[in-house]
Amino acid sequence: MHAIPYGPDYMKFGTIQIGGTTTAARVDAEGGWVWPLVRNDTGGPVEILDVITAGYDLASGPMRESSSLPLRQVKFEAPIPRPRRNIICIGKNYREHAREFSRSGFDTSTAAPPDSVPVAPIIFTKFPETVIGPGAPIHYPRGVSESLDYEAELAVIIGTGGRAIRAADAYAHVWGYTIVNDVTARDLQARHQQWFLGKSLDGFCPMGPWAVTADAIDPGNIDIRCWVNEELRQSANSRDLIFDIPSLIETISAGITLQPGDIIATGTPSGVGVGLNPPRFLRSGDRITIEIGGIGRLTNAVA
Ligand code: MG
Repeated sequence: MHAIPYGPDYMKFGTIQIGGTTTAARVDAEGGWVWPLVRNDTGGPVEILDVITAGYDLASGPMRESSSLPLRQVKFEAPIPRPRRNIICIGKNYREHAREFSRSGFDTSTAAPPDSVPVAPIIFTKFPETVIGPGAPIHYPRGVSESLDYEAELAVIIGTGGRAIRAADAYAHVWGYTIVNDVTARDLQARHQQWFLGKSLDGFCPMGPWAVTADAIDPGNIDIRCWVNEELRQSANSRDLIFDIPSLIETISAGITLQPGDIIATGTPSGVGVGLNPPRFLRSGDRITIEIGGIGRLTNAVA
């Protein structure tokens, strides 16, 4: 079903800060090395969107690798630090999470009875400006929300745009994957019914630490885990998605032209703070770590 064979050819790409410049880089996470990319024409920095749209062909492409740097010495930004459009997000896309959220009393989005799961994908967006990188602080929105929550999610990065993409063709439009923390102000989400406001506060979309190309993982069978401090809160597999990645791409692209660099956050599994009894919301100093197999670990603390 997955059109691209998994193999050793996959690569990781991130966006790094080096000497006051921000540029895309190829990442060898296991070996601990990073190769900043430079443009062949100007010698200037490369945007990761250039890698996505131009492809990564060092022989004939518009970019080349410069000297390697030890990964540990490099400061990473989000792989796509400022997406061109809103991040497309899926709500209640794991059964157990749909149930825990319905039971929490914070789900005012539908008149559905408790414990119900969606019959069609719930789709909302987050502003591009919500994106922050690995290690960047999530500033507590004092006076705005008192119920901050985390959501570990596998995110899809579109490579080839298109409209009316059929599910059977969907993976051919995927460039790669990354990790997103869909940080949520539960009180705003409940009070305003539409989720946008509670999902789009400044800093509410930690992303990274880098992206992997599509052949790196089997997105239909990948482990997703999330810790708050040392406590494992979420542990699931993407095979339990109610609406899988091809069907999401088909649904979204039916009347909206997807563009290269568009990001689709596929939804979070159960174990979020609002689903616990009693709810346990984030506090200043809490550290959230999300691990997705084959991609890496994204850690951010609440400041
Ligand atoms: Mg979410």
